[in-house]
Amino acid sequence: MKQITIIGAGIGGLTAAIALQQRGFEVEIFESTPEFGKAGSGINLAINAMQVFKRLGLYDTILEHAHITHSMNIRTKNLGYLAVAPLSKFETEFEVKSVAIHRATLHKILIQQIGNTGNTKIHLNKKLRSLKQDKETIDLLFEDGTVHTSQIVIGADGIHSVVRASIFNDSELRDAGQICWRGISSASISPEHRGELNEIWGKGKRFGFVHIKENEIYWFAVMNKNTLMKQDLDLKDLFSDYHPTVMTIIGGTQKENVLRNEIWDLKPIATWYHGNVCLLGDACHATTPNMGQGAVQAVESAMALSICLSEESKIEEAFKRYQKIRKKKANHITDTSWRIGKLAQVNNPIGALLRDMLLKITPRAVMEKQNRRVFELNY
Ligand SMILES: Cc1cc2nc3c(=O)[nH]c(=O)nc-3n(C[C@H](O)[C@H](O)[C@H](O)COP(=O)(O)OP(=O)(O)OC[C@H]3O[C@@H](n4cnc5c(N)ncnc54)[C@H](O)[C@@H]3O)c2cc1C
Repeated sequence: MKQITIIGAGIGGLTAAIALQQRGFEVEIFESTPEFGKAGSGINLAINAMQVFKRLGLYDTILEHAHITHSMNIRTKNLGYLAVAPLSKFETEFEVKSVAIHRATLHKILIQQIGNTGNTKIHLNKKLRSLKQDKETIDLLFEDGTVHTSQIVIGADGIHSVVRASIFNDSELRDAGQICWRGISSASISPEHRGELNEIWGKGKRFGFVHIKENEIYWFAVMNKNTLMKQDLDLKDLFSDYHPTVMTIIGGTQKENVLRNEIWDLKPIATWYHGNVCLLGDACHATTPNMGQGAVQAVESAMALSICLSEESKIEEAFKRYQKIRKKKANHITDTSWRIGKLAQVNNPIGALLRDMLLKITPRAVMEKQNRRVFELNY
């Protein structure tokens, strides 16, 4: 039986462990966090991720703990429509729903599944410092001074991947120049928004919200860094010109649980593997969150990699095939998401007006074609 070491127990690493153990691999995960916390944010799991979770036998459990999203809308600050993308056609075509869920809930489901169906060990408080690759083996050196020797390593250690830095020294992180706040609100808003993923595009700022439970809303707010005069401005002030629903959502949030991040991505890299070491998820295809596809792409990569490793007899052939299957789509998403981020955050009034007009006249068929390209799996 082949033994595989995964660095990182994020959504990518955990999904890879599930997919690999289902295919008979012996898996071990090393994770830097001492304990899994209850991160204060939600996540959208688009139709492509849900197809993978269905194949892994996790679909029903996720559905039970999530909220279904039937449409993705771009709106004006008064909640008028700029673009509507109904998902019903895709739900029928791909036989899955699109959902939004609390991140901590998803994490729990993935960890439980690992425990239920295999004997993968998750070692917490194990921060990788570096790795050294010989012909047959890979030595993993951890911050606590311990060394673990492995035959196959998957680096699922996120955008600042130590695994990536250990095998390639030329990757470039790109600053999108935007700040994002995320929170969970228990506010009660009009029931018409149930099942909607809404993004409100303004000038240099954006606000999005989606239900993750009947009475819980995941929201995010994005501002251009260069328009933020003070780091500690209140979100209610920043979005005071938006529809009262936005104030209600922000008002229903516990301030201390709000997350604040800068938005960065990884400029697409040429190669995802070297010898018996391979990258997965944000470690090789980190994207800006504008398409809600970062974790979804990690889930896709996890599935594709498990298929390639179980079907190819040579490791390097498996990694080569995995990269061939996944790289084009992941890079397309990184590049498209980067452009959407710039468009969504246009600050100049004329630019924003032109953008809104363009969105209103974009035929639904064009949006459908773009979405199908994202939702379709090629493995
Ligand atoms: C504001 C925002 C909103 C987003 N919204 C969505 C969304 O709606 N839908 C979506 O699909 N994606 C979304 N994303 C993207 C998504 O969060 C990431 O793409 C996804 O979490 C990547 O998963 P991963 O497992 O590859 O990496 P990570 O989630 O970064 O996990 C990496 C893991 O490795 C561990 N680790 C790191 N370094 C080491 C080390 N040296 N040694 C050991 N362990 C290590 C970390 O602790 C972590 O547990 C969003 C991102 C942001 C910033």
